[in-house]
Order: sequence, then C-alpha cells, then structure tokens
Amino acid sequence: MYKVVKCICIKNLREAKGESEMIKKIAVLTSGGDAPGMNAAVRAVVRTAISKGMEVYGVRRGYVGLLTGDIFQMDERSVTDIIHRGGTILYTARCSEFRTDEGVSKARAKCEELGIEGLVVIGGDGSFRGAADLSAKGMLCIGIPGTIDNDIACTDYTIGFDTAMNTAMELVDKLRDTSQSHDRISVVEVMGRGAGHIAVNTGIACGATDIITQEVPYDINAIANTMLEKKAKGKENFVVIVAEGVGHSVEIAKELELRTGIEARATILGHVQRGGNPTLRDRVEATKMGNYAVELLEQGIGNRVVALKDNQLVDYDIQDALAMKKPYDEKLHRMAETIAF
Ligand code: ADP
Repeated sequence: MYKVVKCICIKNLREAKGESEMIKKIAVLTSGGDAPGMNAAVRAVVRTAISKGMEVYGVRRGYVGLLTGDIFQMDERSVTDIIHRGGTILYTARCSEFRTDEGVSKARAKCEELGIEGLVVIGGDGSFRGAADLSAKGMLCIGIPGTIDNDIACTDYTIGFDTAMNTAMELVDKLRDTSQSHDRISVVEVMGRGAGHIAVNTGIACGATDIITQEVPYDINAIANTMLEKKAKGKENFVVIVAEGVGHSVEIAKELELRTGIEARATILGHVQRGGNPTLRDRVEATKMGNYAVELLEQGIGNRVVALKDNQLVDYDIQDALAMKKPYDEKLHRMAETIAF
C-alpha cells in the first residue's frame, strides 16, 4: 500500500520540479527521551545525505533548536567516532512551545529562512506528533522511531530497545547474586512507562519468578502464596520484575515481605537503562533507518515514519502510524509464567 503512495509522490514531484530541483538541504534532530543508537541514526542520515550531494544540518535539542536556530552544518567528520556511543551528540529536549500552532509556524519559517527542505526527526510518538504538525505546514518530515520502550505501534522495533533490555538484564543478574546470598526477594523496576515490553523480555532473560506489567492483571496474594509453595520445595531467592508503568515497587516488596516473611528489597533501575554503548542490533537498525529516511526525502517524500515490519523497512503516513495500537505479547508473558519457578 505504502509503495503506491510513494510512487505517486515521486512522479508528481519530478514532473512538477524536474530532476535538478530535487531536495538539496536537509536537517536532522533528536527529540523526546534519548535512546542508545540515536547517534548511529544521525551518522547514517548525515553520511547518506552527503553521498547524495545534499547539504545536511544538525539541530540541537530537538524542536527547541529549530525554534532558536541552534542549527549547524554537518560533514562526514561531524559524525566520526559516534556510532558506538550512547546518548545523542545533537542533545535532546522537550519543547512546550512547539506544541502550539505559533511554535510550529515559527519553526517552519526558520527552516524556510535557512533553505532547509527536509527534516529527519528521531524520537518517539510525541516527536512524531510534532513532525506531523510541521508536515501540515508544508515541511517534508520523516520520523525514525527512537525510544527504549519499543512502544511505537507501527514498527516491530525501536532504536534503543535492545540496549536497554541488555542493560536491565545485566543489572538484574548482579542483583540476583546478592539476592541469592541473602535468601531475598528482589523486586526490580525496569523502564517502560507505557508498555511492559522491556519487563517481559528482561524477566524471561533473567529467569524471574514473576513479571508484573500494566497489561496483565496481577494478584499480590497469589504471587506471595506461590512463593511460599516454591520455598517449601527448596527455592531460596526470588526475582520479581516490575514495569515502570505499574510502579509501586517499594510497596510491592513490602507487601510480599509481609505475606511471605521473606526479606524483600526493591530496586528501581531508572535512567541507567537509557545510557551505555548501543548493542550491535541498535547500531545496525539505526543505520538502516537513517539511510532509508534520507532515501525518502531524496524522492521528495515527507510526512512518513520509518518502520521495521517483518524484518523489512517500510514507511507509514505519520497520522496513520500514530493511530495504530501495539499489542502486548501476552502469550510471551504467559510462557514466562509457565517456565518460572
Ligand atoms: P517522545 O518523542 O519520546 O514521545 P515527548 O512526548 O516528550 O517525547 O515529545 C517530544 C517533543 O515533541 C515535545 O516536547 C514537543 O515539543 C513535541 N510534541 C509532543 N507532542 C506534540 C503535539 N501533540 N504537537 C506538537 N508537538 C508535540
């Protein structure tokens, strides 16, 4: 379906403008929550654009930089030595002014003033809403899904997810060591405000006794009773993974201690899961998505989000992408419960 739309766009644009008037100047920004792998995406955007003879500009601090004009030209060397680094060299920010019509118009005017015809926005759903607003004012915008939570519906994968899960897994492994030494219950809260994808995968990878996410109702009494049954069979320590969206980890630990008589500690892993060197998967997916985004802009295509579907890169209309709902893998959750002891 999307391919048909793409062809029409290219044809119309070429007929209207002619080959010599194709996109020459683009910009890239990172917005919203940062995610490991954003740098790899920026690098791919910059290097792909330059290879196609475009000028490419970096915008600092997301939409804030677009409004203040914190924009600078980038070359091949601007993105040297960043593919393996977490965070984002372009910095990121949240920008309330950009949520207003005046703010979006001001950003559009800034792009026009600088001759920037296309913009790559690396971020989450919120950033894509901003990109949709800017697209409605005639700017060619392409969104790249960058968020550790993997909670963007149109895509199977978002940049940063793999790194965040691996970070969480390594930290839970460390906690398990000390939990084991002390015969404890470790309640570990992992990231995932809007979705339990990090929690369920980390829980499986760490052999958690229980996984609590917002998508699946839980019963604290049942969890405590099962722990006591397992204790009677010889189990000495327990790891419970809680998704950030559920929260109350400290209370959950207290409740479990109260009901089981087993010492329980809560640990909230927090923002450490946002940092660190991106994994191979994040570097490669980010590079592919960055490259794909520039290929769309080169063809005069805007108002699209890059997505990974069944291991293929595709693109969706931003509004359509925002309207989609991502299912939670409840089967995976149930499987984890079956295997856990
Ligand atoms: P994320 O992109 O990670 O979901 P946010 O939801 O904080 O992060 O969004 C990042 C930025 O995108 C916001 O600070 C704001 O500038 C812009 N944005 C978010 N929602 C909208 C909206 N509805 N309209 C215009 N801009 C928006």
